Amino acid sequence: MERVSLPLASELSDLARPAELFTARTEGAALRCTACAHRCVFEGDRAGACGVRFTRGGVLYAPGGYVARRYVRNVETNTLYHVRPGAKALTFGMYGCDLRCGYCHNWKLSQALREGVEGERPVRMDARALVDEAVGAGCEVMCAAYNEPLIAAEWVREVFTEAKARGLVTAVITDGHTTPEVLAYVRPVLDVFRVDLKGARAEQYKALGGRREPVVAAIREAKRLGLWVEVVTLVVPAFADDPSDLRAIAKELVAIDPGIPWHLNAFVPRFKMTDRPRTAIAALVSAVGMGYARGLQYVYASNVARELTELSHTRCASCREIVVERFDYATVTSRVTEGACPSCRTPVPGIFTGAPRTSAT
Ligand code: SF4
Repeated sequence: MERVSLPLASELSDLARPAELFTARTEGAALRCTACAHRCVFEGDRAGACGVRFTRGGVLYAPGGYVARRYVRNVETNTLYHVRPGAKALTFGMYGCDLRCGYCHNWKLSQALREGVEGERPVRMDARALVDEAVGAGCEVMCAAYNEPLIAAEWVREVFTEAKARGLVTAVITDGHTTPEVLAYVRPVLDVFRVDLKGARAEQYKALGGRREPVVAAIREAKRLGLWVEVVTLVVPAFADDPSDLRAIAKELVAIDPGIPWHLNAFVPRFKMTDRPRTAIAALVSAVGMGYARGLQYVYASNVARELTELSHTRCASCREIVVERFDYATVTSRVTEGACPSCRTPVPGIFTGAPRTSAT
């Protein structure tokens, strides 16, 4: 990809630092970036497929030292339900993505360079200042999200190193189109891998600009490394809503771990995909039922919290009591006690505090 001549591109270029995730040029082999599953090869000076990692003078540079957005919100707004329910999280995002989904909720960040989005400027920050903000706002969790954070894994690791030192839980909200090298690199300072699984077939991923196998491999690897994993599938009408596809995903997740929470998110028309309606409520209800029938223990309908509140609660996998009650991406009450259902003592997997708690919604 040629670098786009934009003020944003040149500002990001000024901020970029030498990358650590690559295999060096050797005799007979070119420099190769390992920060996502594209594994771009660099001959001469150019940008990778993401547009934000690039070579200059034969050196690979990676994003860092800035944020595009940062917000303090309920941790649940990241579609993360088994991580400190009721806690506040500081979520930050940057620019660029290795995929190009036509329905991206955050396209002004993820596709800023490709689309020549105007008015976007990076906010220069160092890791300590960002974590100071999180701690000062009473956050328990720090999330890297909005664009694809792992194409800036060096910067994410720097921020999360500081966050872990200050006692925060750390999470990436990722497309999962990554590599084992990235997961090993961030693992020492990462707790949570919240990943999208966007379809059941290779051609769906091809349409989004990536490949499916690395995503499934990353989910397996994240589990093997001991990360807490939650999976989101956006149920896009006439793209990712075929019941047989959703069954295949559920079956795949059960084979990895039936305790992985699976969120079925409602699609909303936006960006380049405005030619179809929102996901029908009935389709989501049916998909959630199918997920349970296939053997998953925690299946949620999301992005429809007000219409389908019942399907946003966490129920004990044994006695079916509600152990976390939610409303509109917020926890009303968590009754999980020492990581277990207070009624039957069945463990509830995830990252919970010891005691129950109630939050204002
Ligand atoms: S992060 Fe991915 S798309 Fe970007 S340069 Fe590296 S391999 Fe290429």
